Parts: sequence; structure tokens; C-alpha cells
Amino acid sequence: MSDFLFPKTYDVIVIGAGHAGIEAAMAAARLGCETLMLTQNADTVGQMSCNPAIGGLAKGHMVREIDALGGVMALNTDATGIQFRMLNARKGPSVRAPRAQCDKKAYQFRMKALLERQPCLDLKQGNVTRLMVHDDAVTGVETNLGLSFRGRSVVVTTGTFMRGLLHVGLKNQSGGRMGDTVSTFSDCLRDLGFEVGRFKTGTPCRLLAKSIDFSQCDRQDGDEPAPLFSYLADTITPGPDDIFTLNGWRDGAFQVRQIPCWITHTNAETHEIIRSNLDQSPLYAGKIEGVGPRYCPSIEDKVVKFSEKPSHQLFLEPEGRQTDEIYVNGVSTSLPFEVQYRFIRSVKGLENAEILRPGYAVEYDYCPPTQLHTTLETKRVGGLYFAGQINGTSGYEEAAAQGLIAGANAALKVRGEPAFTLGRHEAYIGVLIDDLVTRGTPEPYRMFTSRAEYRLLLRQDNADLRLTGKGIAAGLVCALRRGRFEEKTRQLAELKALAKDTRHDGVSLATWLKRPDNVPAALPEDLRAKFPADVWNCAETDLKYDGYIRREEERIARSVRQEGRVVPEWVDFSAINGLRVEAVQKLSKIRPETLGQAARISGVTPADIALLSVWIARGEKAMADG
Ligand code: FAD
Repeated sequence: MSDFLFPKTYDVIVIGAGHAGIEAAMAAARLGCETLMLTQNADTVGQMSCNPAIGGLAKGHMVREIDALGGVMALNTDATGIQFRMLNARKGPSVRAPRAQCDKKAYQFRMKALLERQPCLDLKQGNVTRLMVHDDAVTGVETNLGLSFRGRSVVVTTGTFMRGLLHVGLKNQSGGRMGDTVSTFSDCLRDLGFEVGRFKTGTPCRLLAKSIDFSQCDRQDGDEPAPLFSYLADTITPGPDDIFTLNGWRDGAFQVRQIPCWITHTNAETHEIIRSNLDQSPLYAGKIEGVGPRYCPSIEDKVVKFSEKPSHQLFLEPEGRQTDEIYVNGVSTSLPFEVQYRFIRSVKGLENAEILRPGYAVEYDYCPPTQLHTTLETKRVGGLYFAGQINGTSGYEEAAAQGLIAGANAALKVRGEPAFTLGRHEAYIGVLIDDLVTRGTPEPYRMFTSRAEYRLLLRQDNADLRLTGKGIAAGLVCALRRGRFEEKTRQLAELKALAKDTRHDGVSLATWLKRPDNVPAALPEDLRAKFPADVWNCAETDLKYDGYIRREEERIARSVRQEGRVVPEWVDFSAINGLRVEAVQKLSKIRPETLGQAARISGVTPADIALLSVWIARGEKAMADG
């Protein structure tokens, strides 16, 4: 029983202020819902638990999508980034992706200030231990201090904190992250009947810059001009109103003061030290039961599983402008401190390196995401939503993307408005959520471009054209963004019309731009000046890849027909004649919302879908005939 019931009733309560929680709370507040954000420690809002970097392949695409829907991750990255690069800049447009190193503390503090200043949003420190549920619907939350808050919906974004167990060598301690207390919240989820699993992730040690010999390392600079994330990056203004903004718009140009990263390599000696100490690794000593991410292996795993490789690349990444702490990308480890110390010092340039914080592994509870609808509402408790690492994903961008969708839907449900979901053909966010709720994930899930079947349409450069219109319709997007979007759409149509009617080098400009070696930068200045560079880039890609894009659109039209066929709630899969036992079990467990979703469940075959489709048609006809 709680000691104090807070007098205000909230529309949406968000538990956790990590990357998912932030986008969830901001989306709900943007939609005008009275929102409460409760987090264990108000000093760690938006903390990057691992790498101080945002974006990268597929992840960068999602950050642009979040931005196109009015989210805050991209703008905050642009304001506090210290190095920006466009990955795969020389490859095809579908795999180009922005990535930035951030000033870790500036990112957090600026994010906290954003939350504090957001209308309709109250940020409070509090450790939630229990959900209040009545008649299978959530009614509020209770903290460990006996404080209760009433809420019409609740979004849970507890990250790696639930029953977190941190490992350094064979020593372990409970905690959400090194230095943060554990959350027992998963006990309450178990009591409510949710299935809870166990995953693991890890982080490398951090070094002191003055102990590193950078002259022995290769330097890696950012791109100039910095490829920024947000479609509104030029609106960032440094000054007293935005004290944590490190980059800004000055003298007519967006200014980013970039700082370099450095590259070095492990060697035979490093690998030997690691190999000869594997018995002290909790992973190899059988002390860790949680499943770890295959794509992001620890250095122990790399040395064992890729034993033929004589060395691995290490990136030395500064954690900020005001600190000399260096993140060592590539050596995530849970070996004991003394082994970390020895293997780090075997690396060129790191012979005298001092470890500021050791690397460690964390095991944590997560909830298999097949327990969710595509809105990220749980099937078990109405008004309860899960987003981020709790759903078995790994990564800030994956978390933020889910946060935005969960927060928006929690708010829309309270307001009695239609849900906001995205299809696989519309956004990487759609791919992410469909993969999670339809197939679940046997290991921490990370987004890759290869997970999307319509990559040529889901580009990072056209995220606004794909999504901002939807964001406007849902009420997620501010007037400024709306104006920009409408202007860009108009300019793009105008440019395409002009390209058809204008001749250049003896052919139409459209035909000229289609040729592989021709780029807008080679056009006469007076022609180029008619449109901004990003409008030229979009038009160029659309024209160059026209045939492929049209084929993708045809495939989408076919799949949308299947996607549009709803699986009605009255369908009892076990009653369908001839449906295989495995299909009955999987369909009953997931309860797909459409035939398209049903078809993507692993173990469900096209023949099963044909039977289901006929069954639905027959049932609907029988109902229509009365
Ligand atoms: P988090 O960022 O973890 O935030 C959770 C928030 O919830 C925190 O604010 C916390 O205080 C709050 N909270 C928790 N329980 C409660 C409660 N009961 N009441 C109130 N507040 C609560 N990702 C990668 O992509 N690659 C990596 O290599 C990688 N390595 C990692 C290594 C470590 C050691 C850790 C800890 C994480 C790592 N991650 C990695 C994961 C990455 O940090 C997460 O994917 C991302 O931060 C998840 O965002 P989130 O919003 O879901 O949760």
C-alpha cells in the first residue's frame, strides 16, 4: 500500500530516462498529453551507457526517421557532436549513413534541459517498483519510497537495469550500469504473468588521454562539412538559452568544431594474454547465463572465434571536449582488471595507458517482444507499453525509435485517436517493430540495412519525405518542420518538372542526371542555385534509380494487399482444418494483426497462409449471409 498518492493524474507515465524514455515522453508531451517521466537518477538522463556515438549503418537511418517524426535525438546529436562522418559515402545511396561522436556529458545535460523545458512534461526522480493494474488495464505506478502516481497509460523503458548483474572477471555485483543501482521492476512484470528472459551485453575500458601515445596511432578526422542528422540542424542556436549547445549557427554557416579519433590494432601478444586468461572470463567460466549480441562480440569472443585473424582494429574515441577520457571501441570485455591492464598495454600506442574505468559485462532481464502489439502496447495489460532494451534490442537508436512509437501510441490511445504504426515499406522503424513483435529475438537485436527488404526506398536522405507527412497527420510535428517539409516537397516536384523540360549537354536534364557519372555538382552554378543541395540529391537518386525504385514500389503494392487483410479477432487457429500444429501454436501465440504479419512468423508456411486466408474469407461470408 502506498504512503502518498500524488495529487495529479497523468495521461502518460514513462518509466526511465534513457534513449527510449526520452523519445516516448517527448512524443506524448508533443501530442499535448500530461506526461510524467520517472527515472532512478535525474543526473543520468540520456546517458550513453557504452559508446558515445550515435548513428552508423541502419542506425543512422533510424535517427533521421526519428527526426522526421519530430523526435529529439538528431538535433541533440548535432548540437553536441564532436565528430561527424557519412559512412559509405562512395557506395550506393541506400547504404550511406551518418554517424557522429558526441560529447557524452553535453548530450546528457542538453537532453535533460530539453525535457525540463518541454510543456506538458514533468521530470521526476523516482525508482518504480510496481505497476498498479485494475481489470487488466494499467492505472499507475508506485516507487520504492511509497509514492504512487496515477496514469492512464504507462511506457516502460528500463533498459539494462532490471535485475542487472555486472561482471568484471569472476567478481560480480548487481546494478543497472557500473555506478547505477539495480531495478527490481521485472519482479512485478513476472507477477503480472509476463515472460521474462535474460540477455547480456558488454563495454570496453576507458583510458586517460595523457597516457596514450597518439603519434603511434592513425588519425581519423570527421568529414567537412559535417554531415548533420537533423532536417532542422540550421535552427540550433548557441547562446544563453541553449547553454549546452557546443555547435551552432554562426556567421551564416553551421559550425562544428570537430576533434579527431585514432586507430590502432591488437596483435599476437594481446591475443595470447587474452587466450591464456579465458578461465577468468565469466563468459568462458560459465558464470553468465544471458545470451549476448553476436554482431558485437567481446574481445574474448573475437580472439576465440576468429582465431585466424592476427589483429583487430581499435578506435580510440574521445568522450567529450571537457574530458580526457577515451573510449576504446573494439575491446568490449569482462576479463579481470589486471588482465585488461596487461592486454591494453600490449597494443601499439597504449604501452603506458592508464585505465580510468574497466570494461565489464552486464546481464539483465528483458521481456520477449512477441508479447506486444505493433503499437508496442502489451497484449496482457491494456495501456501498458514497452520500449527499448526491455524488448530485447541493443543500441540507443533502436531504443529511441521504439520510444517514439510507444509514447505516441500511449498518448493517442488516451486521446481516443487512431494508433500510429509504420509498415516495413515505410521506415526502418517499421522493420524493427515488425521483426520484434512478429518473430521475437533470440539474441540482443540490432538493426542492419540487410533487415529491410525495400532499401532503395528507405534511404537516410528521404526520411522526411517518407515520414514527416505522417508525423503531421498524427500531430507529432511542429509548425516549423511542417513548413520545411512542405517547401521541400514543392521544390522537389518543381525540380523534377524542370529536369524534364530543360536540356543539358544535348539531352534532357533528367536523362543527363540518370547517367552514372553525372552529378548535380557538375552543373552550371546558376542552374544549381535554383534549389538547395538536398533537393538536388533526392532528385538525382530518384532519377538514377528510377527503374529499381519502380520495381520496389510494385513489390510493395503486392505486399500491401496482403498486409491490408486483417486477421479478425474471432479466428480460432486451432479450429482451422488442416493447419499444421506448429502453425497453430505460433499463430495462437503471436496473434498476428494481418495476413502479412502472419506470413513473416518463422515456421508459418505459404500453405498455412493460404488455409488461413480461405478460413477468414469463409467466416466473413458466413457472417455476411447471417
Ligand atoms: P537505458 O539507456 O539503459 O535507460 C534506462 C533508463 O531507465 C535509465 O534512465 C534508468 O535509470 C531508468 N530505470 C531503470 N529502471 C527504472 C525504474 N525501476 N524506475 C525508474 N527508472 C528506471 N548498445 C549497443 O548498441 N552496443 C553496445 O556495444 C552496447 N554495449 C553496452 C554495454 C553496457 C555495459 C550497457 C549497460 C549497455 C550497452 N549497450 C550497447 C546498450 C545501450 O546502452 C542500450 O541499448 C540503450 O541505452 C538502451 O536504451 P534504453 O532507453 O532502452 O535504456
